[in-house]
Amino acid sequence: MKNYDVAIIGSGPAGLFAALRLEKLGWGNIAIIDRNPYPAGGLLNDGKLNFDYRVGLDIDALQIDRATAETMMQDVKEVFVRFPRCRQVTFLHNNKKLQALSEMASEHGAQFIAPEQWHWGTDNGKALVDYLRGWLKKTEFLLGTEVVTIKKQKDSLFRLNCRSGKRRISYQAQVILAAPGRSGAYWFRDVADELSLHHHFGPIDVGIRLELNRQFYDFITDIVYDPKFIFTTARHGDRVRTFCTNPGGRVRMENYGDFRLVNGDALSGKKTRNTNFALINTVVLTKPLSDTTGYGQSIARQFFLLGGGKPIVQRIGDFREGRRSSVETFNSKTRHFEVCKATCAATPGDITLAMPARIMDNLWESLKSLDKIIPGILHPSTLLYAPEIKFFDTQYPTDPCLETNVKGIFVAGDGTGKSRGIVGAAISGILAAQGIIRNQVQ
Ligand SMILES: Cc1cc2nc3c(=O)[nH]c(=O)nc-3n(C[C@H](O)[C@H](O)[C@H](O)COP(=O)(O)OP(=O)(O)OC[C@H]3O[C@@H](n4cnc5c(N)ncnc54)[C@H](O)[C@@H]3O)c2cc1C
Repeated sequence: MKNYDVAIIGSGPAGLFAALRLEKLGWGNIAIIDRNPYPAGGLLNDGKLNFDYRVGLDIDALQIDRATAETMMQDVKEVFVRFPRCRQVTFLHNNKKLQALSEMASEHGAQFIAPEQWHWGTDNGKALVDYLRGWLKKTEFLLGTEVVTIKKQKDSLFRLNCRSGKRRISYQAQVILAAPGRSGAYWFRDVADELSLHHHFGPIDVGIRLELNRQFYDFITDIVYDPKFIFTTARHGDRVRTFCTNPGGRVRMENYGDFRLVNGDALSGKKTRNTNFALINTVVLTKPLSDTTGYGQSIARQFFLLGGGKPIVQRIGDFREGRRSSVETFNSKTRHFEVCKATCAATPGDITLAMPARIMDNLWESLKSLDKIIPGILHPSTLLYAPEIKFFDTQYPTDPCLETNVKGIFVAGDGTGKSRGIVGAAISGILAAQGIIRNQVQ
């Protein structure tokens, strides 16, 4: 059985950047295992990079200070910006318009964050991954290989039992870095239970994705490609934020088997006439139910049921009048609905039938504030797609090296609650790599 010093589960940004750092620090006997035949994880999705310590990572959870986060962001940036098709889309220096926007947001009770941003587009995703892979000289890629179980042996090595097509194959490793992303989060939670790895439920984000004629949003996205507005709602005191803006982009459906969620992306070479962005409400549960996973899934299933197996989409014009959207009037010119042509084939309906009231209140209150900052976004043609849910819901307590309570098992990336985006995932991968070396050498 082949034996590695480090087996990294997941070839997304967390796994790839961990391997890059391990190689840089002189380690060589590393494997990246991924169930997909192409090593990419979420790097094939859109590719917006946010360089701001407040976006996509939680410095307290990572146990680093702001200066460390900013230095590490520079390291990550240096790698990405050498990819020729990655281009800067938000410039911060001497930008008076940003200051004006920030003041306007604050007048309407919102916090405004404009990170330095870069973008490569979904259509350049494969080229980006090939480029990143080219940096790795010693790491072995075990692709099309799914890790099924992990066992700790008496000699303290870990045994990874894997499936590759119909073949069963096992590997040994001294150290495991689990970076399975959101798609592997629940699989890893089961493994964690078997290994007595401590974990608890974290918050989830539940909300909608807006799609609107880009003329209403260009005013801001010409200055900040992916503007971040954070609201604390008056009625419930909850946190709502804009997330993942795609100027000229498309709304996408993600299939989770027994439910579907919406998301969004943009191509670099071909733009639509629309802009889309998510508006999401952070939900934390305590007693008697702390299981945010189950709660989020039950909301998603409700939409799936009402939408006939698809997400639901509703025009703002219909929403305001308290009626469902329907196929017959979906593009009605008399209601000005033709101004925004939907890019995603969701089911016209009523999102308020499936969205919990508290969340709906928060979203609508925030939308009304946002419309004051960016007038026009609540045009009758604007589309509200739901559900958009971000399941960053399993958290693993670790030391600052990202080692869990089980010696030799480290975690990184979105699937383990250590990040919420490409740059954050990359940083957590680097921290884990440095941690592996520090903890193993001691
Ligand atoms: C449509 C869409 C658009 C997005 N756009 C952006 C964006 O513009 N900017 C941004 O910052 N973020 C974006 N994201 C989020 C981004 O993709 C993630 O934050 C990021 O990829 C997380 O990185 P990760 O390394 O933690 O996990 P991932 O990138 O998800 O990688 C995890 C890998 O682990 C593998 N894996 C899981 N379980 C197993 C197993 N048992 N055995 C073997 N392999 C396994 C998976 O196949 C996967 O390849 C987007 C996401 C989506 C869905």
